[in-house]
Amino acid sequence: MSDFKKVLIANRGEIARRIIRTCRRLSIPTVAVYSDADRDALFVREADEAVAIGPALVKKSYLDMENIIRAAKETGADAIHPGYGFLAENSAFAERCVAEGITFIGPSASVIRLMGDKIEARRQMKAAGVAIVPGVDGALSSVEEAIQAAQEIGYPVMLKASAGGGGIGMQVVSSDDELEKAFASTAQRAGSYFGDDTLFLEKFIAAPRHIEVQIAADQHGNVVHLWERECSVQRRNQKIIEEAPSPFLDESRREALCQAAVRGARSIGYTNVGTMEFIVDEQGQFYFLEMNTRIQVEHPVTEEIAGVDLVEWQLRIAEGRPLQREALPSAPQGHAIECRVYAEDPRTFMPSPGKIETLRLPDGVRLEFAVTEGDQVTPFYDPMIGKIIAHGANRPEAIRKMKEALGRCVVSGIKHNIPLLVNVMDHPDFQAGAYTTKFVETVLKDCGQGEMRT
Ligand code: ADP
Ligand code: ADP
Ligand code: MG
Repeated sequence: MSDFKKVLIANRGEIARRIIRTCRRLSIPTVAVYSDADRDALFVREADEAVAIGPALVKKSYLDMENIIRAAKETGADAIHPGYGFLAENSAFAERCVAEGITFIGPSASVIRLMGDKIEARRQMKAAGVAIVPGVDGALSSVEEAIQAAQEIGYPVMLKASAGGGGIGMQVVSSDDELEKAFASTAQRAGSYFGDDTLFLEKFIAAPRHIEVQIAADQHGNVVHLWERECSVQRRNQKIIEEAPSPFLDESRREALCQAAVRGARSIGYTNVGTMEFIVDEQGQFYFLEMNTRIQVEHPVTEEIAGVDLVEWQLRIAEGRPLQREALPSAPQGHAIECRVYAEDPRTFMPSPGKIETLRLPDGVRLEFAVTEGDQVTPFYDPMIGKIIAHGANRPEAIRKMKEALGRCVVSGIKHNIPLLVNVMDHPDFQAGAYTTKFVETVLKDCGQGEMRT
């Protein structure tokens, strides 16, 4: 049972299906919204109702607030789940929902605004006593200011868009010259992607790990963490494989990291589920990177080790119910790994749209897929077609299950990254848990120039 009469899902693909599944279990009717390109998609068929909201272009469909609000009103939806990406971290959209008397399933608009601005988020976390990556405190107003700051911090530094996301709008620079060149181009890219060209810079941490903490907070002041996720297997600064727990943390570091995340979330009056991202250097020192004020792509690995349904938690928190701490085990249960399956070249990472001629997926693992055999992968949206999640009693067992599952996948008609995922699972450094955000480059080098071994 739920206080919500009907939930509209302002998203598409696998996350829309994921949200529908939980709503169905809780007997909440759902409304999908879809662009012309998604007319025949699985999530459209699976929702109780579906409303067309415009052409393929995201600006005219999934990012069009007016059309989405209209769809909610027409269908009588009293809550909107934004998923991830699109409008999920758009404070104006959250505000608009509230103004229309619709519950936005996420934190308040003011918290979204605060954390959506990386400069502001850094300031807040510093004030809360959470370590941040050494860098500038405010926006850079000129190249000269950037060069002076970089010289003080010491090269290499990372130039970043304050509004950035999805690995877009960041550039490593190693000298005054490089910084001078990168400044204008990064600002321009940030402006066109995020409508905001504000830049800042921070120390570039060499060979780091990306470790993040899942938190949940209700409207009654309770904040809990659901442990961490290791997300260092990345390409283009975007995750492709995630696992929980992190093989890098011992008990005392894990506790310190999770407590820092809780402290940070509490300090801003956070509500709903969210993720505090950290970068961890070779010495094990962790620094706050950013906060994602939404459900994360990789949330299933946390669900597997914590035994909870995070989408249900989002709905319950949004209804105003208190957190059920007792639902959490006293320690993570076993080990979980997620592989993101992308329609892309496994070596160049170029998207590979087209018709999926064959799609045979394994059993014995959790599958979160957006598509079925015969579907078209269009060039309009993120090329991720699905995720495979393996859960084992321990890390070796989770790796073994994942390898088996990847080996049984049959995908044809498009290029896909399964060969790269297999090479990661087979790599001795991955098996030893000894890898950093540079790891994918190593894997590509190690499998040579020929066809990638599958
Ligand atoms: P996560 O942090 O959950 O791992 P990703 O960085 O992989 O998420 O991004 C999740 C989705 O959201 C992807 O489809 C990505 O392209 C999209 N995305 C993330 N941030 C932005 C943004 N600021 N603008 C547009 N799309 C974004
Ligand atoms: P986004 O909003 O695009 O997710 P993040 O700030 O979370 O951006 O960074 C994405 C990834 O970029 C990180 O997981 C990490 O691999 C890399 N990165 C970001 N900042 C740094 C840094 N200061 N030093 C080294 N790598 C970084
Ligand atoms: Mg990030």
